[in-house]
Amino acid sequence: MSLARALTHTLFPCYCPCCHSTVDTQGICAPCLSALPLFSPDQGNLLLRADIQTQFNLPCCDGLIACGWYKGMLKRWLCELKLRHRSHAAYLLRQVISHQWQRYCAEQIIDVDAAILIPLPRHRLINRGFNQVMQTWGRVLEAQLTTLPVLSKRMTRSQQSLTRGARLKNQTQAFRLEGTLAGQRILLVDDVITTGATMNAAAQLCRRAGAAQIWACATCLTPY
Ligand SMILES: [Zn+2]
Repeated sequence: MSLARALTHTLFPCYCPCCHSTVDTQGICAPCLSALPLFSPDQGNLLLRADIQTQFNLPCCDGLIACGWYKGMLKRWLCELKLRHRSHAAYLLRQVISHQWQRYCAEQIIDVDAAILIPLPRHRLINRGFNQVMQTWGRVLEAQLTTLPVLSKRMTRSQQSLTRGARLKNQTQAFRLEGTLAGQRILLVDDVITTGATMNAAAQLCRRAGAAQIWACATCLTPY
């Protein structure tokens, strides 16, 4: 370690956000990263799990992968990023996503040609200033997969206060897809899947555009 780096480290130590012990580089320490309650990639396609299949309505998707349930530290970091715009939360989420993505790749669970990130409606993008999916998954996947900017979303009511049926209706007309995806295997990426309405609406358009296979992918799934 250089003298300048050692000095910086002494003056401004980095702490693991989970166990609060000092770490050499910022972020989650290796033992805490391994201890996070993430879905196990050796379970393969999460849509084959009975509990997940009953809860999430994703008939247009061939498979589903995710990091974990929307609770604990994952929920906290997603809220800090989305609501308080904390870039450090994006950094931690990228660390978790990259770790989980490598585990899925090691298990050879998915084989896709390109990724499509679920967009925000334009007015929400202007208000927030960034798309959290781009800040997390977009940055992790950029070196490994082509990201196709083919999907756009028009203004819809916020999904949060809507019932399951109303969410489906709200999303059905929300997306627009330009171009063709003929024969392509697509990874469709969002931050949180609550009922599956948003993801399924986007998957339906990908299917109509000719996609051969569609994998839904999210940072978190909302527990029932
Ligand atoms: Zn730790």
